[in-house]
Amino acid sequence: MSQITRRALVNATVAVAGTALIARVSHAQEIVSNDDATALAMGYAADHTTVDTAKWAKKAAPGGENQKCTNCTIYQRIDDDYGLCPIFVGKRVHANGWCNGWIA
Ligand code: SF4
Repeated sequence: MSQITRRALVNATVAVAGTALIARVSHAQEIVSNDDATALAMGYAADHTTVDTAKWAKKAAPGGENQKCTNCTIYQRIDDDYGLCPIFVGKRVHANGWCNGWIA
């Protein structure tokens, strides 16, 4: 095995280990609930289809029905069900969630 190939193997191993560690740490984080104080302030709902559109104009606007965490710019996917959001530091948000911080 050449030195470059060995280095590539080490780099790939480190990358995989790092990704696994991030996933494990992320899964240990609390899931944001709809009655979390920040969630209430931001209109967060774990299911974006349940957002009160009479109260949250952004969600009521044309195209708002398609807004959800998975297509929000600041969403960081963990897996198919959850992700991280800088608004809810240290917690996980639902992939199908929404809040008024949604960004196209
Ligand atoms: S800011 Fe985006 S990713 Fe964060 S909770 Fe709101 S919609 Fe989801």
